Order: sequence, then structure tokens, then C-alpha cells
Amino acid sequence: MSEKSPASVFFRQPCRFMAGAATMASLPEFTHPEIAFIGRSNVGKSSLVNSLVGQNHLAKTSQNPGHTKQLNFFLLGEKLMLVDMPGYGYAKVSKTQKSEWDMLIANYLCGRPTLQRACLLIDARRGVMPHDDEFMSMLDDSAVNYQIILTKMDTLSKSESSEILQTVADALKSHVAAHPHIIATSSQDKRGIEELQNELAVFAAK
Ligand code: GDP
Repeated sequence: MSEKSPASVFFRQPCRFMAGAATMASLPEFTHPEIAFIGRSNVGKSSLVNSLVGQNHLAKTSQNPGHTKQLNFFLLGEKLMLVDMPGYGYAKVSKTQKSEWDMLIANYLCGRPTLQRACLLIDARRGVMPHDDEFMSMLDDSAVNYQIILTKMDTLSKSESSEILQTVADALKSHVAAHPHIIATSSQDKRGIEELQNELAVFAAK
């Protein structure tokens, strides 16, 4: 059996739901460093959060896009808060509802002093879509430290994988606040999960 990295051991600690917030007023107090997970509905965000912490049912996964309607705060090992954010760009809700969610996401990301990094998930089969690009520009303008995490890499061939990595790297050149390193993951075959754990564990409270 391969030896586990300290980061993957860290991510195997108990992780518990602390709070859900559907409005700015109901956001919990800052208590720990926070990592946010954001992306279009159905990008594979809940699956990724579950894979990171090795639990199947922590964040809900569903075939029904748009199911996560609030920011969910999960405390890992009493040291790091993982924040699962509502998916953006879901067409089948009213415009008012959509803009309320978009506003909540933007207000949280731009005004949270304990936020260490936003993981912006991109479906590897689709690449950077216009709404992702707009979102990245908003993060650039607010100087939010964010990193692109490609999801569902298991669905691509080797050449398609290299191609999407190159395309996304090119798209990042015009985004000043994006971390230059892209992490390619799959919740299905678990590739990239340990790499992401290594990247994020450094932000845990000492
Ligand atoms: P969310 O809406 O972003 O939280 O996405 P979910 O995690 O609920 O996943 C949406 C759909 O994508 C579900 O049908 C998942 O089974 C599927 N999915 C998620 N991650 C992966 C992955 O790594 N590989 C594949 N092939 N499918 C995935």
C-alpha cells in the first residue's frame, strides 16, 4: 500500500457541517481559514468536496443541477473551513433568484477576510464557458486568490486532456488573480485529489 502524504492524512480527519447561509446576514462568524469551492451547477463540486474528505455524503451530489442553494460550511479537523457554494449560471431558476445567488456568491468572495483561496471548478469536457470567464473577471477585479480545478478528467482521452489543459492555461493568461497552476481531477478515479489536498492543507490553522 502506498504511503499517504501528511495532507491526505489531514483530509481524513473528521469533517462536520457547521452552518448553511442563504443570505449575507446569516453567514457564520469567521473562525478558521476558509477555502471556497465554486463553479457552474453540475460541474462536479459536491463530488469533489466528498472526494477530498473521503466521505460519500458530506456535500450532496445530485443529477439535478442547481440543488445547492446556500453556502455550506464544513469544518475539517477543527482547522480548515471548506465552503461549498451554490452553483452559478443555472438557467432553470427565475432571474431574480439567480441574481440573488450570484450576489451572495460575489459578496462572500469579495468580502471575506478569512478566505484563503477560491477553487474555481471547470468541467474538463466543456472548458471555460462565458459565465466562467465573467466570474473570473469579477474575481480578478476584486483581487480574490483563485485556482482552476478541472473536474471529470476521467471522461477525456490523453490527447483531449493535454488539449484542455493547454486551452485553459491560455485562457488564464488574461486573468491576473488566477493561480497559474491548474489541477486536473476526477472524483471518479481520484486523480488529482491528493495534489489538491497538498495544495490546500497549507492553509489550515496552525
Ligand atoms: P455539483 O452540482 O457541481 O455539486 O455536481 P455533482 O457533484 O452533484 O455532480 C454532477 C454530476 O456529475 C453527477 O451526475 C456526478 O455523478 C457527475 N460527476 C461528478 N464528478 C465526476 C467525475 O469526476 N467524473 C465523472 N465522469 N462524472 C462526475
